[in-house]
Amino acid sequence: MNTEGFYSIFNQDYEIEDEPRIVDREIRAEDSFEGALRPKDFAHFYGQSKIKENLQIFIEAAKNREEALDHVLLYGPPGLGKTTLAGIIAQNMNSDIRITSGPAIERQGDLVALLTNLQAHDVLFIDEIHRLNYQVEEILYPAMEDYIVDIIIGKGPSARSIRLDLPHFTLIGATTRAGLLSAPLRDRFGMVHRLELYEPQEVAQIIQHNAELLKIKINDAGLTMLATRCRGTPRIAIRLLRRMRDFAQVKGQGLIDQEIVELGLKALEIDERGLDNTDLNLMLIMAQNFQGGPVGLDTLAAMTGEDPKTIEDVCEPYLMQLGFVAKTPRGRILTKQGWNHLNLTPPLDQITDNLQDKQIDLEHIEDSAD
Ligand code: ADP
Repeated sequence: MNTEGFYSIFNQDYEIEDEPRIVDREIRAEDSFEGALRPKDFAHFYGQSKIKENLQIFIEAAKNREEALDHVLLYGPPGLGKTTLAGIIAQNMNSDIRITSGPAIERQGDLVALLTNLQAHDVLFIDEIHRLNYQVEEILYPAMEDYIVDIIIGKGPSARSIRLDLPHFTLIGATTRAGLLSAPLRDRFGMVHRLELYEPQEVAQIIQHNAELLKIKINDAGLTMLATRCRGTPRIAIRLLRRMRDFAQVKGQGLIDQEIVELGLKALEIDERGLDNTDLNLMLIMAQNFQGGPVGLDTLAAMTGEDPKTIEDVCEPYLMQLGFVAKTPRGRILTKQGWNHLNLTPPLDQITDNLQDKQIDLEHIEDSAD
């Protein structure tokens, strides 16, 4: 397998945006070094232990049977390692990987070309798979289930359908929320894994490993502090590590220690829990304009000027992990800890109302919240 070739296409199909938000989880121009830093084996893919354990078993079983691995759906907020995991799966299957994304496949023909060029047991990774258009998605159903595609050749009365056999491949789809996929597509994945935000000690391992790769000096206190400010997201952790290196070089002696992290994060306007102005603004609007909620996603988006998708996929998972915001059937609410973090006192009736709401605050109703 030509590893160099496949890692060089690792970043190919992404839209690279120039976003000023340092804790943005989406891929940005400055992350273009990521391809080289991506772990290539399970040993250096830290955290997500349940997913890793299961995948390793299924990979070994598939290899023993000399079959392709079942199709895998990975979902979770951006920057948590979905693309990386797909590369590791392909590596462990001793196969090649083709990387593309939902919006990049515009026509059925594009997908057919991708599928027919695969070799047996190859991995096709489709990022943002929920953004495939309906016609393209229809091609995927028989391809995933029976490894065939039906294509129509010609137009009008002379049109005829031709069935092509495909090699037995593995589709790995990535999306932020499984609920964004249509039911027929979701049902065709043999494995569905949800990636969770990382715990600080896992983030610390990732920072440490990347510091070694990039020859960045960081001490234990600096590492511990930085690990709690990265929103449990490896992409942000690596980005902040590089920014801290700059601060250490210019403002210190080249070593990232606690003072440098404090100084650097203050300059980047990231607070002691890893929140930036966007998160704080969101919480402030909930507090000041809606007495802590409940408030709907679209209202919040309109008030903050943020894209609802950014609020839902980037801000909320972390605010919910911290316990600052909760989702209820009536909308989002600011919790007591959220009010405390803002140094504000919630109105009395809001506390009683929201206490009732919190009892029925179930994560699985998240999609019905709006
Ligand atoms: P996603 O596809 O979910 O947006 P990526 O796979 O692109 O996320 O990961 C973003 C960055 O974080 C990559 O540089 C990758 O090396 C790093 N990374 C993600 N998860 C892990 C992990 N579990 N261990 C080590 N590094 C990780």
